[in-house]
Amino acid sequence: LLIASRPARALGSLNAALQEGLAGLSRVFGVMDERRRILDAPDAAPLPAGRGRIAFEHVGFTYEGVPDAALAGLSFTAEPGQTVALVGPSGAGKSTAIALVPRLYDVTEGRVVIDGADIRGVTLASLRDAIAYVGQDAVIFDDTARANIAAGHEGATQAEVEAAARAAAAHDFIAALPQGYDTRLGSGGSRLSGGQRQRIALARALLRNPRILLLDEATSALDAENEALVQQALARLRSGRTTLVIAHRLATVRDADRIVVMEGGRAVEQGRHGELMVADGLYARLVKTQAFGTEG
Ligand code: ADP
Ligand code: MG
Repeated sequence: LLIASRPARALGSLNAALQEGLAGLSRVFGVMDERRRILDAPDAAPLPAGRGRIAFEHVGFTYEGVPDAALAGLSFTAEPGQTVALVGPSGAGKSTAIALVPRLYDVTEGRVVIDGADIRGVTLASLRDAIAYVGQDAVIFDDTARANIAAGHEGATQAEVEAAARAAAAHDFIAALPQGYDTRLGSGGSRLSGGQRQRIALARALLRNPRILLLDEATSALDAENEALVQQALARLRSGRTTLVIAHRLATVRDADRIVVMEGGRAVEQGRHGELMVADGLYARLVKTQAFGTEG
């Protein structure tokens, strides 16, 4: 999946990649709420320059027509370059929190601040241009391998596309396709394995070089070789940018700079792996029961 737009392009003509990416996102996050359509504020300004500091400040969010709040008083920060893992039981609000960052929904209380700006005052194009989302089901367009990687970054040269593909461990299998980078991947990427589709999505995200990466880790086991390649590519993708990850793998959580343990729409614990194990609370229980990786 991809959240992408070029800021220079008129908002009215968002490209097919963005359309497709948002359609994918709404499948993941549920039907977009028509009554609370997200638009640029009249005085919206581009996202300020920065290195991707994200702050959730007492964030509350209630889905339209749902009595209970999905998020209530959620506060945490991700410093530039950090990886922050969101963990917690199903329904804790992890996916909702991630969805607020590109403003698929707006907060109903509190605020989300990126590089000093309340994101409700930022243009959607500049906000989404700064963010890549890589989920469990990579969106593959019925187009060539090259076009799939360059989606959202149409000016990319072949050298740039290939460099991104190499970094995402996708170059070798693309080069082995009948027409290499010119091979059409088929609707939904039907030519490719799950791991290959994911590596295409990673190459796409690398090429766009976003300051913020939103990641929903795969729960389904890829085969061991693919898993290792995907993890290496993800490590490259994370470096130098701020990452919020819905973590299902203990390895990711262990390495995270901060773990936000969510339950009932709020953060009930925060810290690093060692600290939270010592605290012997919800996090320690999730680890002991291996409750990661069982839900989205
Ligand atoms: P998690 O990702 O931690 O499993 P979610 O963010 O998906 O949690 O869900 C948090 C709460 O919001 C849950 O009670 C869930 O049922 C509810 N919820 C999630 N998506 C929607 C939606 N599109 N419409 C209404 N309620 C939703
Ligand atoms: Mg979820």
